[in-house]
Amino acid sequence: MRLWWETLPGLRQAEMDAFEARGWRVRVDPAAEAQGFLVVHVEFPLDGEALPLRVAYPAQFPYFRPAVYAPPGRFPEHQNPIDGVLCLLGPRTQEWHPETTVAGFLEERIPALLDAIDGGRPLVEQQAEIRAGYLPYDDPSYVLFDSAWAPPAGARSGSLVAKGALLASGERLLLRMAITKAKTGGREIPVEVVPFQSAPGSFTIEFPFAVVDGLDMEEKPDAHWAKVAHLFPGLDRRLKESTVGGKKWQFAVAALLAAEEIQKGIRGFSFVTFLIHRPKGTRDFRVARIRGLRAGRQDMGARVPATQILRDRHVLLVGCGAIGGQIAVELSKAGLGRLTLFDYDHVEPGPTVRWPLGQSFFGESKSAALAAHIKQHWPQAKVTAYTGVVGGAAVPEGPVEGVTLDEVMEGVHLVIDATAEVGVQHYMSDRCREVGIPYIYASATPGAKGGIVARFMPRDGQGCWFCLQHAMYQDGAIQEPGHDDAAEVLPAGCNHPTFAGAGYDLLEVSLQGVRMAVQALDPRRTAETFAAVLDFKEELGLPAWRAHGVPRFGGCECQG
Ligand SMILES: [Zn+2]
Repeated sequence: MRLWWETLPGLRQAEMDAFEARGWRVRVDPAAEAQGFLVVHVEFPLDGEALPLRVAYPAQFPYFRPAVYAPPGRFPEHQNPIDGVLCLLGPRTQEWHPETTVAGFLEERIPALLDAIDGGRPLVEQQAEIRAGYLPYDDPSYVLFDSAWAPPAGARSGSLVAKGALLASGERLLLRMAITKAKTGGREIPVEVVPFQSAPGSFTIEFPFAVVDGLDMEEKPDAHWAKVAHLFPGLDRRLKESTVGGKKWQFAVAALLAAEEIQKGIRGFSFVTFLIHRPKGTRDFRVARIRGLRAGRQDMGARVPATQILRDRHVLLVGCGAIGGQIAVELSKAGLGRLTLFDYDHVEPGPTVRWPLGQSFFGESKSAALAAHIKQHWPQAKVTAYTGVVGGAAVPEGPVEGVTLDEVMEGVHLVIDATAEVGVQHYMSDRCREVGIPYIYASATPGAKGGIVARFMPRDGQGCWFCLQHAMYQDGAIQEPGHDDAAEVLPAGCNHPTFAGAGYDLLEVSLQGVRMAVQALDPRRTAETFAAVLDFKEELGLPAWRAHGVPRFGGCECQG
């Protein structure tokens, strides 16, 4: 390991000199140094006394700030109540200036900390100090709750209903659950969080909660539980039983709802949940403290405002290959409520170099594989997968078991066509125009030298898919996207020619398709018909998009 004070011996000396110049007593921790850490004990003069500080230099000093520890509980705020670390700067790395000495830093920031505690200038940028965030938890257990939910004013206790699952991990149990309902004062209140990803053995559980105004800062979960168990009288006599990992367990769950500031100036609640458990037939309980994760509607939508628009929208995606597969995943991440997938193919190893999923889905139907992945990770998206060919033989046994494409399109707000099949585009665009819903097609050109994403809004006076093909490939009104026709390849064992082109280049096309789809689904804006045409600039491989309206072609039947 490269030690910074060996590469920069002058810097270490300057650090020590700076302490000395201020007349502070300083001692280097020899045990830490023997292990390759520079830790310094400093007696910082404060109101005629010495405040004992422990300064841990980061291995990448002076690029990053030191950690400064004071005795835990010394300050009511701006200090981690468990390990005693002081919060002297905001969290962003640029708030530390590498040219300052630690002594100079302490000389300025410790008085600033005291001033902030006395109600003076805020020490760090506006942020809430969430005490529940300081506690160590039994990861990866979790409880999903809604930040926006609060017990009725004055309620001090009640029960919560959750969907969850227990998992065994060696000698301990993990608990994962999502709160669905609260009961208090004779009332039932639904709580809306992201749907719980049901695992085998999932159950519904009701357990007590108690509202607390201050959270005990106990590092050890059992000591913490010992302090709060009286809030849940008789809980250990109402144990539940479950077989997990081939073993019978007894357990009970209880939650503290700690009232605190959850955003600057906003009061709310933090969840701290306890799972008390033991193998059946044994005496001693193990106490697990479980992290509450905010997963309500606002919690999930805060980062992607489109989530609110997409939650009750239904998209049909035809073609789940290199372009469509990524579209399916991105739309689901963004909060789409319903997605119907339609594709005839199965997952082969070769194409997964430009597909969102890999080896664990080899051999599965592409649409079913994507549906399984989405259901596991973004379960708010209700996904239906069909395996079939658009335009397949109209026989009772096909193209899709007992379902016609008309049925598949029922209730759909938008169709995205990523088949790159001209015949399918022609048919699907006509169908969408008839039904009166937007149609988007997205495809890349050979060699992934370019691509096109075109959106057709019903009845907006612009041309149709056919008009666009005419403008691009017949009269040249719109320059076609960059392409390299020599890049077609026919891989061994494959009966469809495909083209050479990397996944990261195709992703450009997929993402533009997603953007144009979300715009079309947004009721607050008027989305127009237009074609986005992509060319990759030769030398730099820089993607460049052009936007074109779609002129009506006189000979097209969409005129009527
Ligand atoms: Zn037309």
